[in-house]
Amino acid sequence: MAIKGNQNEFFDELEIMTRETREAYLNQKLREAIEHACHYAPSTREIFDRSKVNPAEIRTTRDLEKLPITRKIDLIELQRERPPYGGLLTIPPEDIDRVFISPGPIYEPLHTGSIKWFAKSFYAAGFRKGDVVINTFTYHMSPAGVLFHEALRDCGATVVVMGTGNTEIQIKTMQDLKVTGFVGTPSFLMNIIKKAEEMGHNFRHDFTLKHAWFTGEMLSPSTREILEKEYQIGTVQAYAVSEPGGAIAYECGYKSGMHLMDEYVVEIVNPETGKQLGPGEIGEIVVTPIHNKAWGLVRFGTGDMSSYTTEPCPCGRTANRLIAIVGRTSDAVKVRGMFIVAKQAEQAILDSKSISKFQIVIRRKGQRDEMILKIELGHEAINKEQLTSDLNERFQNMCRVKIDRIEFVGRGNIPEEHQQIIDERTWK
Ligand SMILES: [Zn+2]
Repeated sequence: MAIKGNQNEFFDELEIMTRETREAYLNQKLREAIEHACHYAPSTREIFDRSKVNPAEIRTTRDLEKLPITRKIDLIELQRERPPYGGLLTIPPEDIDRVFISPGPIYEPLHTGSIKWFAKSFYAAGFRKGDVVINTFTYHMSPAGVLFHEALRDCGATVVVMGTGNTEIQIKTMQDLKVTGFVGTPSFLMNIIKKAEEMGHNFRHDFTLKHAWFTGEMLSPSTREILEKEYQIGTVQAYAVSEPGGAIAYECGYKSGMHLMDEYVVEIVNPETGKQLGPGEIGEIVVTPIHNKAWGLVRFGTGDMSSYTTEPCPCGRTANRLIAIVGRTSDAVKVRGMFIVAKQAEQAILDSKSISKFQIVIRRKGQRDEMILKIELGHEAINKEQLTSDLNERFQNMCRVKIDRIEFVGRGNIPEEHQQIIDERTWK
């Protein structure tokens, strides 16, 4: 049911639950989902048996720590052993509405009733009846095209069944149909704009694009600024993963992190131990769908790294928010117990325009990890003391680990092709 919130927005009633109500709600839904999955999905049941956990022991989201994380590679293996759905299907096969195929292959069954909540994300982004939207995600195999299409329809928007590629057709369609919305990746929208300009168009004046919804790729602050300031296109991003069933977190108009959907239990965990981490700590996003009743997936490890905040959001939505997706678990380096990902370090460091290149070196000094930041400046005329103090503060705020030493190195000291983080620690 939609109810009215502030700013004349309509919110789903779940989006404005109090902290206590949400906790009780998620715990209840989790217990139901686990019971259902263990009853119908033999592989889920076996995961519990192997971990010596009785399904009834999972009373709260916190209890999920007792269970192992299931990753993409495990799904491929399960489906190979128990074709076609890996013993994870929880409804009769004839009730499956559609099957998506992820690389692997992984066959992902979906039941229609289980996708209603996607519309929240598009609604929060401002999509309404009267909008004409090009959906540039692929309509075959992967869920993005069809699921986003239906969610846009739920918001009342008219959707152009576009799919990927065909930049020139995209441009012509945008003009002919007076398209107001774009759904796709930031780099593809930038390509379209660039191509339109090469064709002699003035994008801001010749086109009617007002809002863009992105997923599948990080929206960098600089791209966002170009789209919003130069082209007057409102941008929001969402975080979606195919295996657990789609859109998991979404930005509102305040763009300060992505609100978690209450249709999943989302944990941020230490990828090595599976233990849950607190607000601000970087770890792997682990997802348990609690509304997709076709699929007995519990604790799916996405391989994406992020952190979350519990700070209230002025929009009125009360769910915790994922801060930017900062990279993949395979790129993460652990320093003094915290994970650092190159992408995030880059954001903290290259925010300062006077820096042309950087490299982080991690060493072991006695019993302690030491982190040295090497900096190459674009030009020498800079107050290094001020820069050092700014960098220290920004890095600690974003990455939650203190830099031990900043070294300014001469030009050419950091090679053109270089790793941003070098781990020189040896473990005896
Ligand atoms: Zn918000």
